[in-house]
Amino acid sequence: LPILSFENISYKYSDGTLALKDITLSIHHGKKIALIGNNGAGKSTLFLLLNGIIKPTNGQILFKGKELSYTRQEIRQLRKQVGIVFQNPDSQLFSSSVYEDIKFGPKNLGLSPKRVKQTVQDAMTLTETESLKDRPPHFLSIGQKKRVSIAGIIAMNPELMVLDEPTAGLDPYYSKKIMNLLDHIHNENRTILLSTHNVDFAYEWADEVIVLNNGTIIAHGSPVEVFQNV
Ligand code: ADP
Ligand code: ADP
Repeated sequence: LPILSFENISYKYSDGTLALKDITLSIHHGKKIALIGNNGAGKSTLFLLLNGIIKPTNGQILFKGKELSYTRQEIRQLRKQVGIVFQNPDSQLFSSSVYEDIKFGPKNLGLSPKRVKQTVQDAMTLTETESLKDRPPHFLSIGQKKRVSIAGIIAMNPELMVLDEPTAGLDPYYSKKIMNLLDHIHNENRTILLSTHNVDFAYEWADEVIVLNNGTIIAHGSPVEVFQNV
């Protein structure tokens, strides 16, 4: 069963902009998926739909085979399983220390204090953020902020991790670090969907590539299948 399936999804903003048009796709467990598209293609809108921040204006979304009806309970379950790392880490970091920021998600899930402590510790180890734990996130470098925002999502242990251009604005050294981190996360039996502008990277990294153009999927398949068509 796919984690999520979109069936003929469209999304129209209140000003009439049709950001997504008749999108059909399934996200299967364990994949590394790259979403490619120009600015305005609809990537962010797709992400907002993935964890229930917005509802489709047409079509239906199945979560583990069941049609989402957007009850509180369902949205809670969805957000437990689908963690999104937004492009600008400042939108996700708001606590007084790195430790508190990473702790926020697992604490909210209602885990026991002991489990919270353990998941935060594991997330810090994986992202190499332990030495930053007492620092206010606001003053960290962009690469450090990215690692902390990823740690905050990892600590919630989602089945699907979604990242909006995880290496945007990073130099090659930190880009490499983030990508190694994502491979590590993937190896822990998780599914990763990320957006990128970098076609070479998508070709190398992904099992599956989705090309979004002007709100429509114009190609979807293995890197080899997709890139011989575009
Ligand atoms: P991407 O993330 O690929 O750059 P977006 O999903 O942000 O694409 O945007 C898709 C389309 O929806 C664009 O035409 C964009 O201008 C429009 N759009 C995005 N957000 C809004 C909004 N809040 N209100 C109206 N139109 C929007
Ligand atoms: P509880 O709410 O059960 O007291 P905390 O998360 O506050 O749990 O603390 C558990 C342990 O986590 C602390 O003993 C400490 O080792 C570590 N810890 C908590 N907050 C911080 C922090 N801001 N910086 C560094 N370590 C912390």
